[in-house]
Amino acid sequence: MDRVVEIEKFSFDEKYELSLRPSNFDGYIGQDNIKQNLKIFIQAAKKREECLDHILFSGPAGLGKTTLANIIAYEMGANIKTTAAPMIEKSGDLAAILTNLNEGDVLFIDEIHRLSPAIEEVLYPAMEDFRLDIIIGSGAGAQTVKIDLPKFTLIGATTRSGMLSNPLRDRFGMQFRLEFYKDNELALIVKKAAEKLSKNCEEEAALEIAKRSRSTPRIALRLLRRVRDFADVNDEKNISKERANEALNSLGVNELGFDSMDLRYLELLLSANRRPLGLASIAAALSEDENTVEDVIEPYLLANGYIERTAKGRVASFKSYELMKKTYDKGLFD
Ligand code: ADP
Repeated sequence: MDRVVEIEKFSFDEKYELSLRPSNFDGYIGQDNIKQNLKIFIQAAKKREECLDHILFSGPAGLGKTTLANIIAYEMGANIKTTAAPMIEKSGDLAAILTNLNEGDVLFIDEIHRLSPAIEEVLYPAMEDFRLDIIIGSGAGAQTVKIDLPKFTLIGATTRSGMLSNPLRDRFGMQFRLEFYKDNELALIVKKAAEKLSKNCEEEAALEIAKRSRSTPRIALRLLRRVRDFADVNDEKNISKERANEALNSLGVNELGFDSMDLRYLELLLSANRRPLGLASIAAALSEDENTVEDVIEPYLLANGYIERTAKGRVASFKSYELMKKTYDKGLFD
């Protein structure tokens, strides 16, 4: 799927994102509550010369979970090792990662809800007692070998906190949910990123990009890159509102940041006339996989009240009918 507002990671964009990623709290805009708390916990841990407790970040993709993990490691003066749950297939994979850690390291596991139960079991004693329990052999002759691990901080990130098992969630001493960004915060992120790209982004242009970024920094940065292309072609060092609008319009992103996929999604729900549609049928109708629908398309629509999720499925809200200028049977909303 080639979406302008796609928020899955691609290698090229990842490289681009890395160069724009803030390395300390000062460069990290918004999420003030989380930042304030983290600063205190980091200061306390440093004062006691201890490792920071394990941290769980949850929230939709592209809101800055990975960035925060890196900032924490930087502020703690620690090394960070990064992996993602789908890459840990066997308990041996996790054992190898854990035994390679050094005292004080940060281990970042992305998509942590996707760890298998067997691997979670290995993680529990590692998180609680910094110990690895390895079972050798099977049946009556099986033996458990205990290996001490260096003290480390696990930072887990998840887009689906509801899918995390309770025992795993309980072992995180700190849990933070990232919020969608306000337009003025996103505009500031865009302006700072433009500076790093040697461009001056006018206030109004930054706001225009922000408004169309579905409250998500990763999308804002991606749109900025496309807008920069338009400015470059016109030999402009300055990014004006007109140029930003021209670029954004030609990319097919409307004033609300919806692209054709969002609009097709809403059309589908509207055509169901408040009859709930299940995830599987929505995904099939859009020729998308269910994870993309649930992780990429729906979070913003849900958070902004365009759709409702009921036990029977998804339905379009009144706001969607208004947005799409659809007439509706008044009885539907009684
Ligand atoms: P997640 O891990 O939640 O999917 P990332 O941490 O990869 O999101 O963030 C995506 C990009 O957005 C990063 O490259 C970073 O440059 C930018 N970003 C995210 N949050 C912020 C923020 N609060 N301030 C500045 N840039 C941010």
